[in-house]
Amino acid sequence: MHPPLPRLLLLEDSPIEAETLQGCLASTFHVVHVTSVAAATAHLATEPFDVALVDLCVDDSRNLPTFLACHAAAPHVPFVVQSGIDEPEVAMEAVARGAQDYLVKRSFTADVVRRSLRYAMERARIERELLESRERYRLALAGANDGIWDWDLERGRFFVSERWEAMLGLPVGEFGGELEDWLALVHPADRERLVAALQGHVRGEQPGFDHEHRMLHADGAWRWVRTRGLGVRDAQGQVKRMAGSQGDISDRRVVEARLLHQATTDALTGLANRSAFLEHLESVVTRCDAGTLRGCAVLFLDLDRFKVINDSLGHLVGDRLLVAVAQRLRMSVRPGDSVARLGGDEFALLVEGVDGPARADELAARVHRMMAQPFLLGNNQLFASVSIGIVHRSGPDDTPEDLLRNADIAMYRSKRAGRACTEVFSEVHHAAATGRLDIENGLRRALTKGELFVNYQPIVRIPDQSLVGFEALVRWRAPDGHIIQPAEFIPIAEETGLIDEVGAWVMREACAQLAALTTSPALTVAVNVSSRQFARPDFLAEVEACLRETKLPPERLVLEITETALMENPVTVAKLLHQLRERGVKIHLDDFGIGYSALGYLRRFPIDRLKIDRSFTQAIPGRPEDEAIILAILSLATSLGMEVVAEGVENEAQWLHLLGLHCAYGQGFYFSHPVDAARVVALAGGRHGPVREESPRLLPRAPVASRGAPQRRLGDARLGH
Ligand code: C2E
Ligand code: MG
Ligand code: MG
Repeated sequence: MHPPLPRLLLLEDSPIEAETLQGCLASTFHVVHVTSVAAATAHLATEPFDVALVDLCVDDSRNLPTFLACHAAAPHVPFVVQSGIDEPEVAMEAVARGAQDYLVKRSFTADVVRRSLRYAMERARIERELLESRERYRLALAGANDGIWDWDLERGRFFVSERWEAMLGLPVGEFGGELEDWLALVHPADRERLVAALQGHVRGEQPGFDHEHRMLHADGAWRWVRTRGLGVRDAQGQVKRMAGSQGDISDRRVVEARLLHQATTDALTGLANRSAFLEHLESVVTRCDAGTLRGCAVLFLDLDRFKVINDSLGHLVGDRLLVAVAQRLRMSVRPGDSVARLGGDEFALLVEGVDGPARADELAARVHRMMAQPFLLGNNQLFASVSIGIVHRSGPDDTPEDLLRNADIAMYRSKRAGRACTEVFSEVHHAAATGRLDIENGLRRALTKGELFVNYQPIVRIPDQSLVGFEALVRWRAPDGHIIQPAEFIPIAEETGLIDEVGAWVMREACAQLAALTTSPALTVAVNVSSRQFARPDFLAEVEACLRETKLPPERLVLEITETALMENPVTVAKLLHQLRERGVKIHLDDFGIGYSALGYLRRFPIDRLKIDRSFTQAIPGRPEDEAIILAILSLATSLGMEVVAEGVENEAQWLHLLGLHCAYGQGFYFSHPVDAARVVALAGGRHGPVREESPRLLPRAPVASRGAPQRRLGDARLGH
């Protein structure tokens, strides 16, 4: 089936011409022929037509009014007008007023008129579609959130949509309409990069244009916008026109800025965090390498005894102290130097442009001075100090991470030197630290591979050298077979926290070993406990579990702790010691005499025995001042109701001397070296007589009635005889 023919309205009052035209149009159009304007307008107003061919001069109307009347009756219908040969201007006037085309009477052929009518219809269709699409475009612009811009490079015009103007608070139509007007609203700091990006795209270096920059809002504020666009290129590849959108991204920018801030700032103190510090250090190092900066130094700071404060006064006070410390550090540095909190109670300072040790040293001294003032935190007056490690960048090989690590190593050494000290890094420190790392890694392996074992050193009664118990001393058999002594690895285990596992393992091993000695139910085993283990809230539970599982009666377990453990955390430790004592566990204070001179504090703690440090034992007989200390310890112990063990008894003279001093217990190579588990069984089986195999003949049999003799000798010595 053919599609219906297009409907043509033919206004022609000359019958001959009408007939001619109908003849040549009938095959391509459905022709409705009228002879007057009145009839034409009546048809046009009521019926659908695809096109109209209008003779301008008919009986009831002439020239332009003919067209205008018909056009008014059907504005959407395309018109082709015919005029007389002598009046082409009238026809042209009609075209100007909306007719599609004109024909001059008697000068056209059938083809011409058909083509003219077809073109008229075609053009009308295109115009209609264009109108529709314009309308759609207008609606799209109005509805879009983004503003639209359209830059005509040839004419230098810069069109923007209403939304674009509204985004910047401009009244509709206010925008100037040139590229310069746009650029004038761009933030001066962003302009250069924006123009470069535009040019990059226009020159074809960038496939698209996408740029974020600030624009001035009518309220005077800068808004962040994202401008995107695409150039339309001609056959030569030249951009003639470029169009795109502009979106307001201010809110997103705010969120991004906040996230960036969070990612680079320590939430508690507001200082830069570790990653921000390292990033900044990186840029400083780069400038040093480029020769634009003389040098730099990093100070690594760690609060002394922070854990004690945190544990005893609570985390809230701890946090407030950190904030206050951060504040003082900020005040200590010069403008341009940076302060960061690396985490926990660790801080770092970065000094830029230094060419010698002076500035970092000065800064460290200033920090120590600032810290020396008490901190007033609510009701608490606190004293805090920091240990500082300094590293100076020595050459291009020092990466930011190296610098921070070396400053940390130096800080660690300063910590060992005491509180509030400063230490400058040197390569020697590094070597020592690397050795430490080997041990740390090895120790982790030792724990899993069962390379640790325990030796037991007998503890005897001084008078008859009879066995009362053992001290458990840990050893480490390295894979190559050599034995590593605790002095080498215990301090590292304490630093790294591995002591928790090592200590727990030793306690369990020692308790199990002793529980197996069922024939000697009175023998005790002393286990060394580091202050760090003591500070753990679950330590009591760990001891209880160990006793339960190994079935060792609590009275047979002794915990050896040091004065440092007491002093670091007196409140918690006193509580813990009482809880342990309630369960029957004994407490011995190890290495006594080398720590704090004020002895009165001992009253607060339920301690069963003091172990006199071997440095005193070894000084007797002969060094009156050390003997005086031993005497003082003995009398102090008596007044506090504690017993005393002398450590490090190496020879007979020392033993006899201690005998004279009424020291109850002793431990040392003279009685026995530390022995392995098998030997423990043998010793325990020996009815607890003298431990030393060759000792019986030397010993007065208990009870020692002859205490007076050695005592007199001591008296002689003291009196200088
Ligand atoms: P400590 O608790 O004071 O242990 C006594 C140390 O003195 C032992 O050294 C022992 O072998 C040594 N010793 C005993 N008698 C004499 C003597 O007559 N002369 C001399 N010169 N030394 C003597 P060791 O086994 O090397 O242990 C050293 C330190 O390592 C211990 O000192 C203790 O503080 C620590 N330690 C050992 N085992 C452990 C453990 O399992 N845990 C913890 N936290 N520390 C441990
Ligand atoms: Mg000990
Ligand atoms: Mg000791």
